Formats: sequence, C-alpha cells, structure tokens
Amino acid sequence: MTMALVKNILRHVMVETAMKKRRCHHNAAHQITKGMVCLVVVDERGSKTNYCSECAKPMLDAARNNLMAFAVGLGIVIEQARHDGARIAPASLPTSS
Ligand SMILES: [Zn+2]
Repeated sequence: MTMALVKNILRHVMVETAMKKRRCHHNAAHQITKGMVCLVVVDERGSKTNYCSECAKPMLDAARNNLMAFAVGLGIVIEQARHDGARIAPASLPTSS
C-alpha cells in the first residue's frame, strides 16, 4: 500500500540555516550570520536570494494571503497553519553555504 504524496507547490521557497554569512536581499544592511535561519527563494534560473526573518515575515504574510485566496477561489477550507515545524523540517536542515 503506497500513500500518494502531496505535491509541494512551493518548491522554490525554503528555510535554510546559513553556514556562512549571507546578505539579506531585501535590505543590504541586514546581516544573516553563520547559524542564522533565513528564507531562501529560488528564481526561474535557479539563482537563490536570501531574506532575513524580519524581511521574510511580510513576504510570508502575503504568500499566506495568496494561498487563502486560492482556497477561497476553489471553494475549499484549508487547515490552520501548524507551528510545530513538522512539515518544514526537511527544508530546515542545514545546507551548504
Ligand atoms: Zn532583511
């Protein structure tokens, strides 16, 4: 018996732990230092941009609103967000650079 996997439609967005200093793409004055988590967005060409958690928050708020609008458009009710991190755990693992 195999369970159908739910397609991940946010493959271009992830959380990573910086292994070395990164620049926040939204505000160059923001430091993302080694060990800090940051939001990573991969563009069409595969380039990654990093955002500190402060700058990521309004982006995630907007993305959540988009997701809610999609659900409304489809006439469905989606689950409340979970805050235990279980669903984002794989993407939260430390990665290189
Ligand atoms: Zn920032």
